[in-house]
Amino acid sequence: MNDQIWDVVIVGGGMAGGLMAAALLDSGLRVQLLDAAPPPQPPTGLIRPRVSALTEASVRMLRRLGVEPLLAADRMLPYQSMQVWDGDGTGQVDFHARDAGAEALGWMVENDAVVAALYQRVAPQLPWRVATSVVDLQRHALGWQITLADGETLVTRLLVGADGAHSSVRDRLGIAGTPRPSGHWAVVGTIATELPHGACARQRFIDSGPLALLPMGGADAPCSIVWSTSEADAKRLAALPEAAFNQALTLASEGVLGALSIQGPRGCFPIIERHASSYVGRHAALIGDAAHVVHPLAGQGINLGMLDAAVLAEELLRAHARGLPLSSPATLARYERRRRGHNLLMQQSFHGLKWLFEQPALPLRLLRNLGLRGVQQAPPLKQFFVQQALGRRGDLPALARA
Ligand SMILES: Cc1cc2nc3c(=O)[nH]c(=O)nc-3n(C[C@H](O)[C@H](O)[C@H](O)COP(=O)(O)OP(=O)(O)OC[C@H]3O[C@@H](n4cnc5c(N)ncnc54)[C@H](O)[C@@H]3O)c2cc1C
Repeated sequence: MNDQIWDVVIVGGGMAGGLMAAALLDSGLRVQLLDAAPPPQPPTGLIRPRVSALTEASVRMLRRLGVEPLLAADRMLPYQSMQVWDGDGTGQVDFHARDAGAEALGWMVENDAVVAALYQRVAPQLPWRVATSVVDLQRHALGWQITLADGETLVTRLLVGADGAHSSVRDRLGIAGTPRPSGHWAVVGTIATELPHGACARQRFIDSGPLALLPMGGADAPCSIVWSTSEADAKRLAALPEAAFNQALTLASEGVLGALSIQGPRGCFPIIERHASSYVGRHAALIGDAAHVVHPLAGQGINLGMLDAAVLAEELLRAHARGLPLSSPATLARYERRRRGHNLLMQQSFHGLKWLFEQPALPLRLLRNLGLRGVQQAPPLKQFFVQQALGRRGDLPALARA
């Protein structure tokens, strides 16, 4: 019976859950990860539509945990610059890695490539069970009893919900995570560009929503797009014949990379924002999208999620080293204090930015134009945004600090 009792069970093997498991390797704790998906495989061929811009802080964590060397070099692109401009005016800001003495401003990766590398790092050392769904949770004297789809049960002292935006762990714990429609839908896909992307991430703010052209690695050096717009417009764009879509996309990008052409399928889905009413419950904690879903316009969602994972792991290791119970309310409260305020602030800032760029009133348009120009011309302000984009701000776990 004893072999069924775990110190930590992580439900969800996305980037947040996988990083948490990697951070607990060699801790002496009995840790298990459960995921509903089949074994993660490194992607090959065309770039997959789900990509993320990782910050310096996230890449530092992946390096320190021995995960980054497992990522194929052609599936991870360090980008040196970022160009943000207002599609309806003259405001433009350019950021460069050299402004901050950084190796890169960020790293573009396919989500599947990171998960496959985490799996490769973690699975040989602790159980990462694939194709395993949680179907029930019951309180247990030690923590939680988990029932899996095949009827097997296990007991854990601490349950970590890393099961994404539609977290069933969050729901079963009775923690509210009411979705808030952002008013945007996203059209995503991989594109070929006439002009080389030059390892620059570009974002044009259009009244209907931002269009991001994200540089990817590989021989063809394609870009990934995230085009946020209204529901009706997204559905229209997704249904356009390929030639018409390419034309609309090239126009929306103001030809910054010449003619653009979609490669492979286009994804189209609503952008929903959420924030869990609490990150912790009795013997339980939430990390990543299970705790918060932010608008993708600032490319910060999984970066916040990986910091949640590292901070929670740090607090657990701290408690363990002092002989304290892993899931004591004090330990879990420290985790929540360190992450929730920061994540809420980030979510509100992205929301404010989105709102500002949607406003039709002339004074607000002027303000955002002046704002972008002001940032461009004021080195300290620019420095502030670069530090933010690199993930150097906030209460960082030791794993992410320089
Ligand atoms: C268009 C778009 C662009 C984005 N761009 C960026 C970006 O540039 N930078 C950035 O930082 N973020 C970005 N994000 C956000 C980022 O993709 C998410 O924050 C991130 O993928 C969430 O990771 P996660 O590990 O928390 O959850 P997920 O990736 O959703 O993983 C959850 C895991 O839980 C498993 N699971 C679910 N239910 C169960 C169950 N009952 N039992 C067992 N397992 C279960 C699933 O199989 C899955 O593996 C973007 C998001 C979107 C929509």
